[in-house]
Amino acid sequence: MANKAYQFRLYPTKEQEQRLAKTFGCVRFVYNKMLEERIQMFEKFKDDQESLKQQTFPTPAKYKKEFPWLKEVDSLALANAQLNLQKAFQHFFSGRAGFPKFKNRKAKQSYTTNVVNGNIKLSDGYIKLPKLKWIKLKQHREIPAHHIIKACTITKTKTGKYYISILTEYEHQPAPKEVQTVVGLDFSMSTLYVDSEGKRANYPRFYRKALETLAKEQRILSRRKKGSNRWHKQRLKVAKLHEKIANQRKDFLHKESHKLAKRYDCVVIEDLNMKGMSQALHFGQRVHDNGWGMFITFLRYKLEEQGKKLIKIDKWFPSSKTCSCCGRVKESLSLSERTFRCECGFESDRDVNAAINIKHEGMKRLAIV
Ligand SMILES: [Zn+2]
Repeated sequence: MANKAYQFRLYPTKEQEQRLAKTFGCVRFVYNKMLEERIQMFEKFKDDQESLKQQTFPTPAKYKKEFPWLKEVDSLALANAQLNLQKAFQHFFSGRAGFPKFKNRKAKQSYTTNVVNGNIKLSDGYIKLPKLKWIKLKQHREIPAHHIIKACTITKTKTGKYYISILTEYEHQPAPKEVQTVVGLDFSMSTLYVDSEGKRANYPRFYRKALETLAKEQRILSRRKKGSNRWHKQRLKVAKLHEKIANQRKDFLHKESHKLAKRYDCVVIEDLNMKGMSQALHFGQRVHDNGWGMFITFLRYKLEEQGKKLIKIDKWFPSSKTCSCCGRVKESLSLSERTFRCECGFESDRDVNAAINIKHEGMKRLAIV
């Protein structure tokens, strides 16, 4: 299954505009209410993490009794406000974002609704939305018949224009591509990988600089008194840096995986193995910080989209100790030996030798499959 979103301009009537304004307002209201309640919960249980974990998240349904006018708007929009707040908290707890903020009137005017029992329909320049009936839209492109509409997000811009983003899902099975070009990748902790042609994927300089800054700011944070004003301020700084670094890393991983998926029909990798783990220990960094897992996810879908292949080879395959020229396997090879030398006279960069072995192993698999 694949997803694709289509964006169109909406032209609501005056009456529909009022209803939309009401929905934006109710979504914001419910979001803020739930946030307020969450904050109270945190305060109540701040010294009792166990009880806090057991508290359930407030639901919009609860507010409908107290504020009956909430019933006038799309209930799915309110349910999505709850999901958005939950997501905001998850990001906060994982350190990817700051503490969720209250939405004021200047916040983005937008809400999302889902398709349930044919409540959303598209026909003849109009779209039918819950509680709004048919709204006119400018559909400048067709949504293919095999795409199924899953959700819609309605947004009002600062200049008063309305847009709808229609999220669709569709079956996508490209024809398998005949394999002509193969590359092997050797995981590397310090860069991202070394390939069988001797190329290294190097993180950009600004990224490495940002990592250094993060380490420095984290040291400052660890020296501050936990819970103090200065600590909170520093924590926010660190959270923002984390977010920036995560985005830079993601961009880089997208670019690298795109290049490989464009150039090769088949990419062979090693399952993240003991070698990766020992390298991680050596560099004092966690393997996931390096982004390898995310990189493989991107690479896999970019290849599969084109009917190309990603082959993972066994983690016990001795890619580093094997000579890529004659096939002899060395008894031992320490991490500090950067050049691979074999009795047969073959000499190569250690990582390139490993990447060539990975490529060969993958090609053997291709022949079998
Ligand atoms: Zn050899």
